[in-house]
Amino acid sequence: MEGSIMRIKSMSFMVAVVFSIVCIISAVAQASEPPKYVFLFIGDGMGTAQRMAAEEFLKHQGKEGLLMNTFPAYGMSTTYQNDRFITDSAAAATAQATGVKTNGGYISVDPEFNPVETIAEKAKKKGMNVGIVSSVSIDHATPACFYAHQKSRNMYHEIDMDLVNSGFDYFAGGGFKDPEGKKSKKPQGNAFEVAKTNGYTIAVGKEAFMVLNKDSGKVIAYNDRLDRSKALPYIIDTVETDITLTEFTQKGIELLDNPNGFFMMVEGGKIDWSCHANDAATAIQDTLEFDRALKAAYDFYQVHPEETLIVVTGDHETGGLTLGFAGTRYDSFFDVLKVQKVSYDVFSGEIFKGYKEGLEGKANFEDVVPLLKEYFGLEIAGEGNLVLKDYELQALRDSYIQSLAGAKINTGTADYLLYGGYDPFTVQITHIFNQKAGLGWTSYSHTGVPVSISAIGVGAETFNGFYDNTDIGKKIMEIMGFEFKVAALN
Ligand SMILES: [Zn+2]
Repeated sequence: MEGSIMRIKSMSFMVAVVFSIVCIISAVAQASEPPKYVFLFIGDGMGTAQRMAAEEFLKHQGKEGLLMNTFPAYGMSTTYQNDRFITDSAAAATAQATGVKTNGGYISVDPEFNPVETIAEKAKKKGMNVGIVSSVSIDHATPACFYAHQKSRNMYHEIDMDLVNSGFDYFAGGGFKDPEGKKSKKPQGNAFEVAKTNGYTIAVGKEAFMVLNKDSGKVIAYNDRLDRSKALPYIIDTVETDITLTEFTQKGIELLDNPNGFFMMVEGGKIDWSCHANDAATAIQDTLEFDRALKAAYDFYQVHPEETLIVVTGDHETGGLTLGFAGTRYDSFFDVLKVQKVSYDVFSGEIFKGYKEGLEGKANFEDVVPLLKEYFGLEIAGEGNLVLKDYELQALRDSYIQSLAGAKINTGTADYLLYGGYDPFTVQITHIFNQKAGLGWTSYSHTGVPVSISAIGVGAETFNGFYDNTDIGKKIMEIMGFEFKVAALN
């Protein structure tokens, strides 16, 4: 009797073991099937503090937090480059696009200048469609590292030529910085002409953009209103006729979708720029837009959950943003950040510039006070969070004098610590305004703190843990079934 019970028990144990093995095998078989659709979202300069600032900004208004912070896999990565602890965007994007550690400024070449194949190029070779989207110029360091191989990120003409000869299917967002080779030692013709010869449809502005469809073939699309660096306007400055990062992403998904799958990289590039300038409200608005673009990919994922991978990361942190400030001690006032109406860039380059031009010799600080109220809600009298303290008012007066004097501010000086390379009055305003929200900045450059990565979909669990930034590229390649080897392109 006891023996038969033992036998039944051991049989059921065997059944359970066999069942478990079958489950494991089928899970492995499923996991070894590479995803058909792969999205890599890179928030430039989007460290953990930037993600959390945007999250809290939403939650303080009673809204849901960021979509990117809800993904099931969550990790952190180092960001250092080969020849320096604090990375630039070129070395960081090379690490993420190729799995190779390189020097600052290098565009998908190793430290010996050997070109290294990118995830996007591998995807194209495999027959997938490839899309590259960015809110800054499409030849800027981060997007360039997916299709170009150059010794310097500043070789915009050479990068433009690599772009139009890449054979990739969709380039969208900002414009080209040197299509004609005006700043090149060896101009190679007009990149737009070469693009047309290579079969690209070039769509400029919202009207031309909205009518793009699957019959448009390979596409280069950019907004007609670009800043002086050929980037999209900041979201805080965007108008109805501008094309947003979200729209560029949605259209990309529509155009790239095909039975062989696609790889798409989407960069939120101006999170970085606004953090260089220590402007948190502008950075948060661009982070929210980046998260809305991510939602477009997430909607697609929900239709194809077994075939899609989405990875979201930063490339490094910018500005040394932190969520806390000596003056506000344990308090945070994220709501304050809603008050700001324009980016630091529009304030210094248009509003304050216009004000200065209208001065006609008299420069009373009192005259500029209405602008502080109108664009940042800062007041010199009254009650509430945005009333300026005496020392804040003094700091603003000092910076105002510096701005009107127009003196060049050199690195290594006390003034550089105060204002960086920016308009002194504007940067002092954003400093004080951010401090009132309980936020602090330590730098006008990048910092070396690790960044957060989150992921959802096929192989997402691989992104749990702490790893190097080159592992992001290697992990994606492994999941996509590509071989990672450090070898020169042929
Ligand atoms: Zn930067």
